[in-house]
Amino acid sequence: MMERVPIFPHVLELNLQARQRIGCSVYLIYDDAQWALIDIGYEDSVDEFVELIRQLDFPLSQCNTLIASHADVDHIQGLAKAKQLLRTTVTCHRLAAEALEKGDTLSTFAEVPAQDIQLAMPPVEVDQLVDEGDTIEIGGLKLEVWHTPGHTAGQLSFRLGNLLFSGDNIFRDGCVGAIDAHHGSDIPAFIRSLERIRASDVQWLLPSHGPVFRKDNQLLDATITRLKAYQHMADFGTCAVDWPLIDEWEKELAAGKLPE
Ligand SMILES: [Zn+2]
Repeated sequence: MMERVPIFPHVLELNLQARQRIGCSVYLIYDDAQWALIDIGYEDSVDEFVELIRQLDFPLSQCNTLIASHADVDHIQGLAKAKQLLRTTVTCHRLAAEALEKGDTLSTFAEVPAQDIQLAMPPVEVDQLVDEGDTIEIGGLKLEVWHTPGHTAGQLSFRLGNLLFSGDNIFRDGCVGAIDAHHGSDIPAFIRSLERIRASDVQWLLPSHGPVFRKDNQLLDATITRLKAYQHMADFGTCAVDWPLIDEWEKELAAGKLPE
């Protein structure tokens, strides 16, 4: 048996528990014998995580549900395998469900042909859809569901007391989850999600990649300011809202302005 090292009461993070990076952050939330996971990571690491959970003395039959924070391959590829092993349910937002059930390789980033990335995306049946304002019960704990779109349309966050499992909204270095049109990224929605996190009184952010960190409004402000600029930059292609240079150019064309 292995000693549990909770990062907060009722919360383990399995990479930290293993003292090595296995994949994305995998949060195990528990109350007595009942437990649930937020994300599972790649299929290759499922056996390792399940063995770790067994070593931590959680009854494998008492997994309430496997929660997908959103439908990106690095968070969910292992869901089908884990669901079968643990004989439990899968929970996600309705806007993530189709990608999971179809094993959609494009919107999950499993396949990026231009970069020669070709990963499997095993389909998995979704049992429970959750949305803004719902709660997920784990023993006596109530996980409050926030819909925080932006990185993807189906991105969820979960509040437990002063903790926010914040998905790919923001990381400790101020980076955010990839902004990509194939993925349903929406920069204005992303800004609203970050502003909501900023306005909340949660104290800790538990992201889906990298270390847990204290909510820092200066960090959030810097990230929000950056994303506000992204809305008007060609760098973000079809994810940008507009490109002011083209408006200027049209005026200059109409005026017949020559290069200066
Ligand atoms: Zn991610």
